Amino acid sequence: ETIPSSNFLRTIVEDDLKSGKHASIVTRFPPEPNGYLHIGHAKSICLNFGLARDFGGRCHLRFDDTNPAKEEQEYIESIKESVRWLGFDWGQNLYHASDYFEQLYQWAEYLILQEKAYVEDLTAAEMRAYRGTLTEPGIESPYRSRSTDENLALFRRMKSGEFPDGARVLRAKIDMSSPNLSLRDPVLYRIIHAPHPHVGNSWCIYPMYDFAHGQSDAIEGITHSICTLEFESHRPLYEWFLDTLPVPARPRQYEFARLNLTYTVMSKRKLHELVSQKIVNGWDDPRLPTLMGLRRRGFTPESIRTFCDRIGVGRSDSWIEMSVLEECVREDLNERAPRALAVLRPLKVIVDNYPEGQVEEFEAANHPQNPELGNRTINFSREIFIEQDDFSENPPKGFFRMTPGNEVRLRYAYIVRCTGVVKDEAGAVVEVHCEYDPASRGGSAADGRKIKGTIHWVSAQYAVDAEVRLFDRLFSDPNPDRGEIDYKQFLNPLSIEVLSGCKLEPNLRDLDPETRVQFERQGYFRLDPQDSVIDQLVFNRVVTLKDTWSK
Ligand code: ATP
Ligand code: MG
Ligand code: MG
Repeated sequence: ETIPSSNFLRTIVEDDLKSGKHASIVTRFPPEPNGYLHIGHAKSICLNFGLARDFGGRCHLRFDDTNPAKEEQEYIESIKESVRWLGFDWGQNLYHASDYFEQLYQWAEYLILQEKAYVEDLTAAEMRAYRGTLTEPGIESPYRSRSTDENLALFRRMKSGEFPDGARVLRAKIDMSSPNLSLRDPVLYRIIHAPHPHVGNSWCIYPMYDFAHGQSDAIEGITHSICTLEFESHRPLYEWFLDTLPVPARPRQYEFARLNLTYTVMSKRKLHELVSQKIVNGWDDPRLPTLMGLRRRGFTPESIRTFCDRIGVGRSDSWIEMSVLEECVREDLNERAPRALAVLRPLKVIVDNYPEGQVEEFEAANHPQNPELGNRTINFSREIFIEQDDFSENPPKGFFRMTPGNEVRLRYAYIVRCTGVVKDEAGAVVEVHCEYDPASRGGSAADGRKIKGTIHWVSAQYAVDAEVRLFDRLFSDPNPDRGEIDYKQFLNPLSIEVLSGCKLEPNLRDLDPETRVQFERQGYFRLDPQDSVIDQLVFNRVVTLKDTWSK
């Protein structure tokens, strides 16, 4: 059986529907509620919900909540919110592995009665030592030959809370010499005295992922149970449970390659650490690859879905460049983001020959290609702000912006010529003077002379102030997660830059918080949904206009 490297799951589903193996398909997205979802989860969400959508099936949202020690209601809520935000809807199909705890328990007793499970008294360390290695078979536990009655009695005592955490486990009796380590008497149940976010204090023994997952799939009638490649070696165990237990249906497990993205980390342990050690500001920090972080930063759900389509689904592990994700949001926003003028690092410019107190209105298109986005008016006045780095007193070769003696075009307005500067005691330029050409209204010279540079500006009189947050990669190494060295060594100390006193065109005061705008020449921005308030605007840069990261 050869498996094509891309779209192989769609092919499988198509074939299963064509052959009549399934009348309709059922998939599931099964997060463990032990953290926030990240862009890797988006790949799985788009895949599972996308298959159901495209082939007229359904996709369940199932919380794989088998370890109450790490799971919380906060995570359950954020996961639901993230899936909805990405644009998917599970409808009535919300499930929890914990919904099946009673049935799973009954199946555990069933295995004991079939002499296919036993209560283990070895410690975790002893079990590990007995387990063997890839090249050496394991050794059978002395407790493996316990009688059915003794196993049943002990397992019931485990359930009734007689033993402390870790005192005993229930194991399947399969094959300690199997070349597949997953089949060497895997643990089925462990004791955890902790309240569960969904079922409270009803249980103190909890099934392992492997014992819960396939059976949950069977109970829900999942046809295609899609997981990442690490679970490939668990597939024989998944099938052993389905073969051995009286389950109501026969799901099949398929594996695909997980998403690995450069310059970030996606393991939940590491994300937890970054949040709890306050290296970032919460799970929705715009520098994190969490869906809540990407949303807050300004990524659109469409751009993330495009990304998931573009990277494809295959069976070989690969790395995706962060720039691919950024390009997806850039393309999306280029098409729909209205344009605006904003000066991030302001330098005052005085147009000396422009009448004091005079104000002129210029019409500007909100989008250069899309007239449906309409026009807006921009006020011009004698004092304006430009970017500090659009002025140079001693320009390098090829600098076509504002320099003493030279002409430059102010976007939408006039051609101006710089006539001089005012400096502070330290010699820094604090004010630039210039004169405008009244015959260049709109930006073209009446005599047709060419002006090489065009810069953006805002009227000092009308500008609104804002804080603007610029983000860079959270890590300065493409693969901080590689393991030999603590990933925190690779944190980029300049991953956030906060600019205050930025000057924005006043139309931005009324910006819809969900709208992303292009600040001309600066990138795409949105209001920060947590920190921005009226009269104290805070903008996040979603992405720069051009790829400045790769190479
Ligand atoms: P971690 O190992 O960091 O705890 P996880 O994979 O255990 O993450 P789950 O909540 O169990 O996290 O994941 C839910 C689903 O999302 C699983 O089906 C898993 O295969 C999938 N998933 C998780 N990470 C990725 C990834 N990087 N790429 C693709 N799918 C992923
Ligand atoms: Mg995990
Ligand atoms: Mg998991």
